[in-house]
Amino acid sequence: MDKYITKVLKQIESNGFEAYIVGGYVRDKLLGKKSTDVDICTNALPKDLINIFNPKVNKSHYGSLRFRTEKYTFDITTYRQEENYVKRRPNRVVYINNLLEDLKRRDFTINAICLNNKEDIIDPLGGRKDLDNHLIRCIGDVATKLEEDPLRILRAVRFSITLGFNLEEELRREIVNKAYLVDTLSYERRREELDKILLSSNVLEGLELLKELGIFKYLEIEYQDLVYVNDICAMYSQLKVSDNYNFTKSEKNIINSIRKIIKLGMIDNHSLYQYGLYINQLAGKILGIKMKKINDMFEALPIRSIKELDISYNEICAILDIKPSRDVKVLVNQMIDLILEGKLENEREAIISYLRKGIK
Ligand code: ATP
Ligand code: MG
Repeated sequence: MDKYITKVLKQIESNGFEAYIVGGYVRDKLLGKKSTDVDICTNALPKDLINIFNPKVNKSHYGSLRFRTEKYTFDITTYRQEENYVKRRPNRVVYINNLLEDLKRRDFTINAICLNNKEDIIDPLGGRKDLDNHLIRCIGDVATKLEEDPLRILRAVRFSITLGFNLEEELRREIVNKAYLVDTLSYERRREELDKILLSSNVLEGLELLKELGIFKYLEIEYQDLVYVNDICAMYSQLKVSDNYNFTKSEKNIINSIRKIIKLGMIDNHSLYQYGLYINQLAGKILGIKMKKINDMFEALPIRSIKELDISYNEICAILDIKPSRDVKVLVNQMIDLILEGKLENEREAIISYLRKGIK
């Protein structure tokens, strides 16, 4: 185990508390995958953790202390029982001094395996066996667990899709029974899981599984053809998505740009100039265009931005003897189009001659 992680565990222990790694990091490590998010559970209370780590900013939210080091993000959480989930988070947290009870409040056995600082496995709920058998099994009473926090429905399916694991029989049955509860989840929480599903190379089988389980309709998305691309905006650009989901301005921009290229059905100098290489590469993957072709076209672009125009805006105005105006901007754009189409050379003399008498 990485010495940075051991150090954090030992730091808690040297203050007289227990500390174990739990959750995604352990699951992924046992599956041979690297993970940089480290969840630690402990009987130290949030105030103890603040004393131990003396964080510059007190990022203790919902009783968790979060901090980043160069390589890892640590989430240190006090053992707890959770009750009465309201929307995003449990509305009451009861801290306890018992690892087993803390593990029992978790969602699936594969997420309740612990490691101590010597890398010994502590696994009272049999997560290791389920991990070996590729099985997602709920901890405790399945129906109650899913009702308590219906996000667990989406998490179960997400783990099944991303890990290629099966849903244990009773869990699968109860997911079907309780699928309607997905409708009560905030769109922010739905999106977190949906993003992970869309970024899985098993996405197509995953969406079929969501349909099979009766969950798909609650996600408020539609799709016809879908090509897997390892970029979340490229995936959303291929879906019809409910306006209830929130996207950042930059995400919307990228999604809309990709959609415009897909609609055109091709990549040309205009799209490369307007949207840049990366967005065209994404659209190109969806359209099935060879990356080399796109990269070569980009390399060969006669102009990549207005700054590369071989004449200044002021000089254009001087040659035409007009004041800067919208019309000049339109003219510049027309010239750039001609340059992109290979009809005008991006060269000062050629541009001056064009401005004086049009294309020769
Ligand atoms: P990943 O980080 O890959 O999404 P993870 O299992 O680490 O997976 P986190 O959201 O980081 O997921 O949560 C850490 C741990 O907290 C989980 O492994 C699980 O033990 C517990 N947990 C998270 N969300 C829930 C939930 N909704 N209900 C019960 N336990 C949960
Ligand atoms: Mg995690």
